[in-house]
Amino acid sequence: MLSQVVELIESKHRFLITGHARPDGDSTGSSLALYWGLRALHKDVVVVMRDPIPPAYQELPGAGEVQVRPAIDEPYDAAFVIECSDLDRPGLPGLEKQFIVNIDHHTTTALFGHINWIDATAAAVGEMIYNLCKALGININQPIAECVYAALLSDTGSFHYANTTERTFKIASELVRRGARPAHVARALYESHSFGKIKLLGSVLSTLQRDESGRVAWVTMTREMMEAAEATEDDLEGIVNHPLSIRDVEAAVFFKEIHPGQFRISLRSKGNVDVSKIAERFGGGGHKYASGCTVIGTQDSVANRVLSSLQSELGTTSRAAD
Ligand code: 5GP
Ligand code: MN
Ligand code: MN
Repeated sequence: MLSQVVELIESKHRFLITGHARPDGDSTGSSLALYWGLRALHKDVVVVMRDPIPPAYQELPGAGEVQVRPAIDEPYDAAFVIECSDLDRPGLPGLEKQFIVNIDHHTTTALFGHINWIDATAAAVGEMIYNLCKALGININQPIAECVYAALLSDTGSFHYANTTERTFKIASELVRRGARPAHVARALYESHSFGKIKLLGSVLSTLQRDESGRVAWVTMTREMMEAAEATEDDLEGIVNHPLSIRDVEAAVFFKEIHPGQFRISLRSKGNVDVSKIAERFGGGGHKYASGCTVIGTQDSVANRVLSSLQSELGTTSRAAD
């Protein structure tokens, strides 16, 4: 819990921060905000990720100082593991030897830390880091403000998901007062796409299908589409929101053929169905509104299995495409 984290930070000096593999806006913004908070306390701190920070978040203060490493081989007083469902999610062997502080806002998170601070009421882990800075008496400076703002903007879908509350706007307001630049962050996150991403979006959207009920819609990306658009994995973020944006659609799926016969799947819901249940059935996780998993098989068999599972959860049965 929060008081344990505060006590640990006050009594120790040398810290590691990491987030999940393939960092997103919340894991990146939260990790960097904590980095700036610990720096303000003159701690010795490093952010280590398995994967590079995607271009959208590279303009965040401190992004250039993130170290990309395949493993952790030195001892730290403690390792903060941000937004991870289990200790394998960072993809960093050696982490298990550290004193682990697990910080997350997902209820499906395993309690893998020596300290576990889980707050399912937080819109983003960024909000928890903001609360932690306050509890530590840290002045919210410009870098902290901008990193927390990016985490909030990203995890609330630009303040339009159901996790957006009065408290979110109160915090966002203070962050702007402390120097976060909304237009700058929005441009980096939403108006700095690669040419390949928009080309890829075109071919992926041409696969759009929905079931007979009209409540489930899905799109598929093959290896060939990705190669033709010269797109990267970073370019896939956000595409699943397009099928979800259709009227009457309650849940959307994006099937991504990452390797031949291996599909990484993104599931999204408007709230009537908890898509973490479906992802968990296939060995993945996430939360009610957004979840993911990886499934092996042919395109048809993978689609059949995942869509059937989703439809039984929604109480619809047919899979006829249109
Ligand atoms: P995305 O669709 O953006 O990759 O992931 C959406 C959500 O599902 C995120 O909260 C992410 O942490 C979670 N998620 C995605 N893939 C996996 C996975 O393989 N395992 C687990 N446990 N969670 C996942
Ligand atoms: Mn995340
Ligand atoms: Mn999050």
